[in-house]
Order: sequence, then structure tokens, then C-alpha cells
Amino acid sequence: MELSVVNHQDYFAKIGDDHKFPINKFGELANYLIKKKIVKKFYKPYPCSEETLKKAHSADYIKNVKNKTLDQNIIKKIGFPLVDSVIQRSLVATGGTVLASKLAIKNGVACNTAGGSHHANFEGGAGYCVFNDVAVASHYLLDRGLAGRILIVDLDVHQGNGSADIFKNNKNVFTFSMHSKTNYPVKKSTSDLDVELDDNLEDDDYIKILKFYINQLNDENFDFVFYVAGVDIHFNDRLGKLKISDEGIKKRDEIVTENFFSRGIPLCGVLGGGYNKDFNKLVELHSYLHQSCAELISTNG
Ligand SMILES: [Zn+2]
Repeated sequence: MELSVVNHQDYFAKIGDDHKFPINKFGELANYLIKKKIVKKFYKPYPCSEETLKKAHSADYIKNVKNKTLDQNIIKKIGFPLVDSVIQRSLVATGGTVLASKLAIKNGVACNTAGGSHHANFEGGAGYCVFNDVAVASHYLLDRGLAGRILIVDLDVHQGNGSADIFKNNKNVFTFSMHSKTNYPVKKSTSDLDVELDDNLEDDDYIKILKFYINQLNDENFDFVFYVAGVDIHFNDRLGKLKISDEGIKKRDEIVTENFFSRGIPLCGVLGGGYNKDFNKLVELHSYLHQSCAELISTNG
């Protein structure tokens, strides 16, 4: 069997050529996955419906994004211009994670080529995140009885503060965030499990800490996992403060995906952040998630 991967050309948005966010990575990652024969074809998502979005975001916020009437301060906090392609991208990428989560239930594991917009909370977006796709998809699965107890494993270098806020009082979703102590956001939220890492942490310690907490989580009875596989933990990232190598990221992705796949818990992998100084390296690092999952499917699927 082949790994199910969701992608859409609308993941790219016109945010300006001189923008700091590497928006070209979504298209390039799709090309790379095809070129390296990691996937043969992509599943194409629909824009997420308002009804589905409403479970994780206020009706006012959704309306203001769609009508481009969002407060300037919130637009500034998000960091993208509120133009048509950004709105379309936000809706389609969120629909993409919803679709990938359904494919994960069907096939054991599936991935999006975007997603992990973990800084967006109920009231609004922030930090290059408009809609919290993982939160939206979690509600979608719970509402339909497709999952009963969801775990979010967020290994982006930044805390998943939006997800922590959205599920603060929800016992059906457990938020685990392992992130750099000194990175954005300055004021952290409270996840169900927060692990704060010191600056300049290297592979061996990182993997040791990761294994320890993954082991702990194995004692709980989750029936679905979202994995936010941000690669901004890399030593050459423009934003992250950790010192993880290519091999470290590869190992991390293998550990997480194999752990849940081998236990028969469906896993939906989403991209998370990545701002590497080397663009081609950035695309390769993001592809480790899909490579790890493809390997599981081809050997056990
Ligand atoms: Zn990040």
C-alpha cells in the first residue's frame, strides 16, 4: 500500500517575494515527494467549511477573515497580508488536515503537506497561523465519533499555545508540546504536558527526552494522534534555538510515527514550522515526516 498524502496547489499564497515566511516550500515539497517517489499522487482537499471551522474558532473571527474585515492588530499578529490567496490557503490547508485525518483512520497513517498552525486560538490567529487546522480536525473527528481520545504531539520548536488554549477544558484532547523555552511565544500557555528545552540542545539529549515522554504517553489510551513535525528545531533554522541535525530530525520522525503505528493508533502527520537558512535543506527536512510514514506503510501496510 502507498502512503496517503494530501496536497493542493492553493497551499501557496501571494504574500510578497520579500516575505520572511518560505511560502514556496509547500509546492517544492510536493515536487520533491514525487521526484523521490515517496508518493505517486496526492489527495486533493476542499476548503474547510464554516460549520467545521466554527468548532475551533469564533464565528466573528471566521467572518472577519473571509470578509477581510479583520482588525489590523490581529493581521499584524498573524504576519501575513489578508489577501485572497492567503484566505484560500488557510481554508484549503485546514480542509487538508481534516482529509488527512480521515485517511489516517482508514489506512493507519496519513499526512498533509501543510498544517500545524498551532498558534491560532479560538479568538484569532498569530505567528503565521490563521486557522488551527489540527484543532479543527480534532473537533471534526470527535463530533462524528471517529475518535474518542486524541493526542496532539507537537514537536515544533515553538509552543503549541493555540492548541493548548483551545483544548484547555477538553478532556478528550491531550496536548503535548515539547519546545524551546526561550522561543516564541514569550508568554506560554499551559498544555496538558509541556516540556521546555534549553537553548542549543543537541541530538542525543533531545532523543533521550523525547523517548522518555513518548513512553509515558503510551500508558494512556489514545485512539488518534496528530503529529506536528516542525523542523525549526534544526541547527541552521533562522528562528529555532535548538541544535538538532538532519539525522536527529529523521530519527525523531521515525520514533514518533513508528511508536503509534505499531500500536495501531491512527496518526495524522502535519508539517509545522521550518525556516531553514538553506531552502533545499528545508524541503528535505520536511520530507522526513512523509518518508518515515511511507516506510511504515510499505513494510507493514
Ligand atoms: Zn515553529
